[in-house]
Amino acid sequence: MTQGKAILRVAIPSPLHGSFDYLPPPECNPAQLQPGIRLRLPFGRNQVVGILLEVASSSEVDEAKLRPALEILDSSPLLAPEQMKLLRWASHYYHHPLGEVLATGLPTLLRQGEPAEARHRSLWKITPEGREIDTTPLEKRAKRQAELMLRLRAAPAGLTAEQLSHVESVKSPRNWGDAMAALVKKGWVTLEQIPSLTMPSPPLKKGTQRAGIKGQGGFNDADSAPQNPPQSPFAKGGGDSVVLNDQQQQAINRVLHHQHEFAAFLLDGVTGSGKTEVYLRIINEVLAAGRQTLVLVPEITLTPQLIERFQRRFNEPIAVLHSGLNDRDRLNAWLYAASGDARIIIGTRSAIFTPMKTPGLIIVDEEHDASFKQQTGFRYSARDLAMVRAQQQNIPIVLGSATPSFESLLNLRQGRYHHLSLPQRAGSAKPPKVELLDVRGQPMEDQLSAQLLGQIRRHLGAGNQVLLFLNRRGFSPTIICHECGWIAECKRCDSHMTLHQKKRLFCCHHCGSQRPVAHQCPSCGSADLRPIGSGTERIEETLQQRLPDTPITRIDRDSTRLKGSLEAKLEEIHDGTPRLLIGTQMLAKGHHFPNVTLVGILDGDQGLFGIDFRASERMAQLIVQVAGRAGRAEKPGIVLIQTHHPDNPLLQLLCQQGYHAFAEAALSEREVTALPPYTYMALLRAEANHSIPTEQFLDQARELAQSIGIEGVELYGPMPSVMERRAGKYRYQLLLQSNQRQTLHRLLDQWTTRLSTLPEARKVRWSLDVDPVDLI
Ligand code: ADP
Ligand code: ZN
Ligand code: ZN
Repeated sequence: MTQGKAILRVAIPSPLHGSFDYLPPPECNPAQLQPGIRLRLPFGRNQVVGILLEVASSSEVDEAKLRPALEILDSSPLLAPEQMKLLRWASHYYHHPLGEVLATGLPTLLRQGEPAEARHRSLWKITPEGREIDTTPLEKRAKRQAELMLRLRAAPAGLTAEQLSHVESVKSPRNWGDAMAALVKKGWVTLEQIPSLTMPSPPLKKGTQRAGIKGQGGFNDADSAPQNPPQSPFAKGGGDSVVLNDQQQQAINRVLHHQHEFAAFLLDGVTGSGKTEVYLRIINEVLAAGRQTLVLVPEITLTPQLIERFQRRFNEPIAVLHSGLNDRDRLNAWLYAASGDARIIIGTRSAIFTPMKTPGLIIVDEEHDASFKQQTGFRYSARDLAMVRAQQQNIPIVLGSATPSFESLLNLRQGRYHHLSLPQRAGSAKPPKVELLDVRGQPMEDQLSAQLLGQIRRHLGAGNQVLLFLNRRGFSPTIICHECGWIAECKRCDSHMTLHQKKRLFCCHHCGSQRPVAHQCPSCGSADLRPIGSGTERIEETLQQRLPDTPITRIDRDSTRLKGSLEAKLEEIHDGTPRLLIGTQMLAKGHHFPNVTLVGILDGDQGLFGIDFRASERMAQLIVQVAGRAGRAEKPGIVLIQTHHPDNPLLQLLCQQGYHAFAEAALSEREVTALPPYTYMALLRAEANHSIPTEQFLDQARELAQSIGIEGVELYGPMPSVMERRAGKYRYQLLLQSNQRQTLHRLLDQWTTRLSTLPEARKVRWSLDVDPVDLI
């Protein structure tokens, strides 16, 4: 016990719950320390960076045991009170240690203790005086100065060092640095520091403006930017020139009506209905009101096309946060958002923690997408946190989707969200026709029925593009010995090895292990090894044989591993080169392929019999999203779904009456069977090298939960995960379920802090998943 002294209570990124107490460093006035600053601290034998939560006046810990902090890293809070509030809320709700949650809210470099300073770029601009002055005398005396003046006059928005280095004969900054300094001294040129925001640079293509950051002067390459950039194919029909339809206008008006308060909207619009256009118009008003917008998108849709579309529309700095950023760029983007310089922030899941100085709006596009849920460590839902954040900051939030999650549909029914509906495709595009293709008893070649193949030929023959969807990459899901039945299995998982033909490898899609393809059965020595089933790679090969003159492109995680390759492939598709597109869900979302008139879904049965209760919801969303790629422009589209279960009621509803009819029926089923969103779940997972401690730990956890004695929470398990062994670890789980969110959380509050004290807790790795989206 320590009293009468200033105590620094800090959060430290560590799996331990609770905060830690330190003494202030010597010669520090603790009264000046504000919560939200970072401190360097001794922790065990290491040093860590922690966040100050409060300056307290007493501690439970004896003074002799308290250690002083080593260094104060920030003079003002890095995490503003609003940020702290959101992160504290998240820590409490997901029952995850605050230190780790706070660390998630910070870019890596700040977590490591780097100064919170954005790197700026120098921008040189001509002054009014410099514009007027006669520079002919310079041409003799100071050639470099004259040349710079010429360049700067031609670029009134200014030039950066990179741009200047293109000046002929002025190859390196050392060469022109003195000349420029002389011009600045004369008052003909000014030097400004501008933020260096981060943009992935989209591939430069013929006739398209190079994307840079607009606004803030001079980010664009002044030479290469044409005055009126020709519209890229992605811009088709876009731009402010589009005349909004009534539903779009109404949607915009209703959001703007609540522009300065919390209000939640579900923008429920079929694919191609102009949702993005609605976002853009609303953002425009938010910008005009001097406020920032945060746009969350699934990883897969954060393509250059989307960013380009935003850039073309707004003359404002945009910060883009995606997984491909390096640490420095991420820090810059974070700081510019925090300072208010970045007016629009577009990012994937973790961007939900980006601070904003003047928040005005949050948009979650494709809100149903499972990638908004973090699946390791601190398992938060960015969509759900977005809702909390909008509430805390008293701003509107728009969730958009053509296939809303069941959670959102129930919230809508219960009156928590306003409904914005765009039931029709924008412009002249018509909805695609969706048909089930009964493949029972049909001759099939690699998942392709003769009927589908015929249709593919017909559409290609008419000069259109065809998209085939199969959510399984690789050549074949596994390989079997025709003599003895041996199957290629992963040594570390309860799973088969996927054959990757081109790479001549067996790969496990669960643990990532690889080994060379066997040419002989290891069990009986036979050489008759046969692939079972097909993945995208095999479909591509088969089709290439059947349609040798058709350019084909395959889009999946294997074919787009190289940086920039996805962009290049998408570009080709838009140019019309490949006529046949084969892909996994990477191809399903967000893209706009105007020349695709036929979409073939090769395995409509995938998902009908999934183990996870969400399997059919996912499949329906995927089918509708893929279908949405067809007939997006003038050409009408058709979607053919191959199935062995043409009579399945849910599948029929989906095809004949669409996603909402399907969702109604499937939601009723969930209600009857007491599953989310009607009930609330938490999943305790544990894994170890042996199954015994794993199961024992969960047994103990179960007993502990029972001893707490809160009525109304059902416990299921411990049970092995669907894949009991993965990457060499045995995995078990215990499921908690309640009809009341509050009841479940009352139990979790008492339970989770005590789990680490269980006897077996040290022998296993365990984690809690609140509102799990994956039960396997
Ligand atoms: P979504 O986000 O719902 O898929 P988009 O906003 O991308 O839809 O719109 C689909 C296409 O329709 C885009 O090319 C867009 O420019 C165009 N579009 C949007 N609104 C209209 C409109 N009111 N009239 C004509 N075309 C439109
Ligand atoms: Zn064999
Ligand atoms: Zn494996």
